[in-house]
Amino acid sequence: MKIVLTAAELLTPSDLIANGVLIIEDGKISRVGSRADTEIPSGARHVDFADAVLAPGFIDVHIHGGAGHDVMEGEPSAMAAIETFLAKHGVTSYCPTTVTAPLDKTLCSLEKLGRAVKANDPDRGIRARPIGVHLEGPFISTVKCGVHPLGDILAPSVEVFEQFWKAAQGRISVMTVAPELPGAQQLIRDATSRGVRVSLGHSDAATDPARAAVKAGASHATHTFNAMRKLDHREPGILGVVLSDDGLSADIIADGIHVAPEMVKMFLAAKGDDRAVLITDAISATGMPDGKYRLGTFDVEVKDGRCMLDGHLAGSVLTMDLAIRNVMTFAQWNLQRSVRLATLNPARLLGIDDRKGSLAPGKDADVVVLSKSGEVIRTIVGGVGV
Ligand SMILES: [Zn+2]
Repeated sequence: MKIVLTAAELLTPSDLIANGVLIIEDGKISRVGSRADTEIPSGARHVDFADAVLAPGFIDVHIHGGAGHDVMEGEPSAMAAIETFLAKHGVTSYCPTTVTAPLDKTLCSLEKLGRAVKANDPDRGIRARPIGVHLEGPFISTVKCGVHPLGDILAPSVEVFEQFWKAAQGRISVMTVAPELPGAQQLIRDATSRGVRVSLGHSDAATDPARAAVKAGASHATHTFNAMRKLDHREPGILGVVLSDDGLSADIIADGIHVAPEMVKMFLAAKGDDRAVLITDAISATGMPDGKYRLGTFDVEVKDGRCMLDGHLAGSVLTMDLAIRNVMTFAQWNLQRSVRLATLNPARLLGIDDRKGSLAPGKDADVVVLSKSGEVIRTIVGGVGV
């Protein structure tokens, strides 16, 4: 059965098509065009979203949880709650993200998360899909660890990574690494050769190790500015490399709490339309009232939109649709440019842009219907949800 969606605008997102038409067949996009040049097939189901905007579903490469659950629980019911919540905010694909924890606990979570990524249940309903794990710890700096428990942080090790890889059944997409640590460069080469995107972060690196990490294969940076050595104009360090190296993409938490609005604007000017990526770093408290919530193996206090532990910010309660609206406010970017940071750019980062991150024939029918100001009206995952 063909499904035809029409709306005032369609963002591919590289192009803006006025009076957009999108045709879905068997969970895939079969055609994209404008009303003027696209015939609506007879017998198709036609849903008109009038003044709204059709955009690709959002992709979030850094999510710890939501709706009261942490991804490290890994149980099907916890994943279902998180994924249903994410879809309500326009997210159709995501990387469940682990925090530093005792080795056995991490291995146990990775086993469950690997299974969740592998599972291909056709009756999932309207839920974001886990597309690969993001290992945020344990190979991070003890001086830039944020709330990651010091006692569980490990020196970069190919052998330990091999254990993670096996536990996750090879379903690791992203790994955050501090490049200045002994053994980091070798680990970066090893992980990159397996197709893992190595992201620089939780790091106190001077310029040289950061540059060396890029040569070794690192291609991205994790929550730019947060848990990162500060910028210095003579010794630019990791932040100078991240902001200036055109071979690196980088992400940012645009909640206005982790990074001031002015710095979000500067970050976008530095990384540009092609290499800036939005993440939420959302924890289990997202979508829940203030109170105490779990992050990995520890508890975090949430009050007025801030997640705190011992005076440190501990993840966020940001949603991706709000991050996009914040970019529109903080940097005066329009909806089309802002949407790209949560769709095409993360898809390219993960190397899945052949099937996700844009609206084009042959791509998965992951679609978010937005108001012109960026509120989510409807989310469609693999053609389900219309
Ligand atoms: Zn995180």
